[in-house]
Amino acid sequence: MIRSRRHMGGRPRNSTPTPSNTRRNDGAKTPDLEATRIRTAQVSRLLAEAWPDAHVELDHQDAYQLVVATILSAQSTDKLINTVTPALFARYPDASALAQADQLELEKLVAKTGFFRMKAKHLIGMAQAVVQRHGGVIPNTMDELVALPGIARKTANVVLGSAMGINAGIVVDTHVSRLAARLGLTVHTDPVKIEQDLMVLLPQDEWTSFAHRLIWHGRRVCFAKKPDCDHCTLVPVCPSAFAPVQPKASPRAKWNQKQKPAAARPAAKPAAKKAAAPAKKKQLAAKKKPASKPPRA
Ligand code: SF4
Repeated sequence: MIRSRRHMGGRPRNSTPTPSNTRRNDGAKTPDLEATRIRTAQVSRLLAEAWPDAHVELDHQDAYQLVVATILSAQSTDKLINTVTPALFARYPDASALAQADQLELEKLVAKTGFFRMKAKHLIGMAQAVVQRHGGVIPNTMDELVALPGIARKTANVVLGSAMGINAGIVVDTHVSRLAARLGLTVHTDPVKIEQDLMVLLPQDEWTSFAHRLIWHGRRVCFAKKPDCDHCTLVPVCPSAFAPVQPKASPRAKWNQKQKPAAARPAAKPAAKKAAAPAKKKQLAAKKKPASKPPRA
């Protein structure tokens, strides 16, 4: 019998997530959903008062430009991307022009943004797919967008929400991940699971604006290393207000940890054994020594 992925418990990559607050099987604590919903509404209201005009900070005129800018923004800052895109959009004004770009020429144009070879490859691949599959027009559904090279849920959510006014999901970037955790709106670290949790907690028509406001708050007040709780409007509803920030493990330490599963790591010597080791060493050394000659009479 052929069984679908759904019946096997799997979920296709990038498909619409199901709420994880209500159905968790990973051992994580299930928060009181209704109480968290009420607190999320308070967070949302306070954020709206603080940042009524929060918007995506990548300069763009249309969906095509926002797709390009968002792909470039990976591991970079919006400010830097905004210095690169004017020349890029002048040279490649639409997907048809970008689809025919010379890889080396494009790499030079986006070199400042980091990972420029991969980004140039993704940009050309994305543009060619848009031309071939969608007649040069950026598609307006999550499934069609995430099927394009270089586009995952986060980019698709940015484009759908900010260029098309469609609340298909919630943008989860580094700021949203950090603030959602500090505000106690998720217990997860995986962006897809964080998005699922937030989607359950918020009305759909707030998904895009809430993410923008959280990102603005993360950039301007709730900094990664030193959150400015003294000047934060969310103090009354934030369980992490004035709490010390846990230092983050370095990427190298995380990598090392991943390489060595617990079973493969050498087991630490038990304390008693450790203490007994020098004594045993002495005994062995004494045995090896030739017996001293008896004194001459
Ligand atoms: S109270 Fe502090 S930790 Fe909480 S959101 Fe505000 S700045 Fe961040």
